[in-house]
Amino acid sequence: MPPLRPIDLKSQPAPYQVRYKVIQKIHAVLKKSSASRLSNCDRKAVELEGEVAKKSSSGQSYRFNASVLLRDLSRPNGRSTKANGKINEASGTLLKTQVLEKLTAVLLPVEKLLENGYFLTTTLEVDSDDDAKGGVHKVCIRCNTKFRKDQIMKPTTCRYHIQKRRYNRNTKVAEYPCCGETTSSSSLLGLGCKTMSHHVFRPETFQEMSQISRFMTTDLIEGESNVLALDCEMAFTSMGYELIRLTIVDFFTSKVLFDEIVQPFGEIVDLNTEFSGVHLIEKNKSLSFEETMTRVLSKNLINRNSILIGHGMENDLNVLRIVHRRIIDTAVLYPHGKFKSSLKNLAFETISRRIQSGEHDSSEDAIATMDVLKFKLGIPINQKTWN
Ligand SMILES: [Zn+2]
Ligand SMILES: [Zn+2]
Repeated sequence: MPPLRPIDLKSQPAPYQVRYKVIQKIHAVLKKSSASRLSNCDRKAVELEGEVAKKSSSGQSYRFNASVLLRDLSRPNGRSTKANGKINEASGTLLKTQVLEKLTAVLLPVEKLLENGYFLTTTLEVDSDDDAKGGVHKVCIRCNTKFRKDQIMKPTTCRYHIQKRRYNRNTKVAEYPCCGETTSSSSLLGLGCKTMSHHVFRPETFQEMSQISRFMTTDLIEGESNVLALDCEMAFTSMGYELIRLTIVDFFTSKVLFDEIVQPFGEIVDLNTEFSGVHLIEKNKSLSFEETMTRVLSKNLINRNSILIGHGMENDLNVLRIVHRRIIDTAVLYPHGKFKSSLKNLAFETISRRIQSGEHDSSEDAIATMDVLKFKLGIPINQKTWN
């Protein structure tokens, strides 16, 4: 019998020893499941591992892809995902199984999840140096000033523009749409049209986020397969960027299943009211982060079998510190050229709905995201009963 050696690749996603062990595991599973064609198992194991290695760009994605493969191989006869699918032509409605099939087809593959800032494990092997933890200093994401993180609550001057600079084709100069000021302006307004008394930052790394609260995986939460649209609102606090409102909507009934204001851990710096729509966080009308997670990570809401739908949902899942794999992200699925689309534009272009004309409303956003997806996949937006 020839030794089970990993095939050579230009760039190795994982060390030889790791790949070798994966081949051994695949081989063992194959041997168990196809006893009649033992001679093929060796070649097949090397081939399957090779495919996993080729499509993995990092050690993390390699380990994940390998574990998915092993799980799939271990399933007796694979999973039957074929819908029993007769189209209900007379009524113009769809069966639940047909919808689930359409949704399953657009789940983001692992590579896309990683590429777009989703975290797929709760323990990343990152050096715990100061940089990974976020360091002592931060750069304000509004005005680019470097400041000490522990001084964030000390009042200072933060001048910035509310909107990003854009190139104006008529005048041939870059300008800020918020106030019309150009980059060449020498007036004080050039520095920004808005002044706040604190700088703001966002935790960027997994380590830094984990220090505030740990990531939790949905892997161990059993429950029925459900489909949920999700949207969060965030605020800037002394600890960075935190959850202040969470809305979860059922895909099939469009019912709002969860919609609560959430208390952040840190002191509030800016509620982002113009975007978040949250004006006030009252203790007796809001939930703590822990209470929120206990209620949301459960068999009836977000469980291991849930399909989660969102727009740019890595932001939502990262402030929620949730690791989940069955994800549909309309920002990734329906980009605007090379860039991610905005939900506002996407909703207008597809379902002619105007949203976010004033303050954002996470239930409006979650429903719009869901309806955009229904429209794109040919699922009737107004169908509320399903067989
Ligand atoms: Zn401005
Ligand atoms: Zn600033």
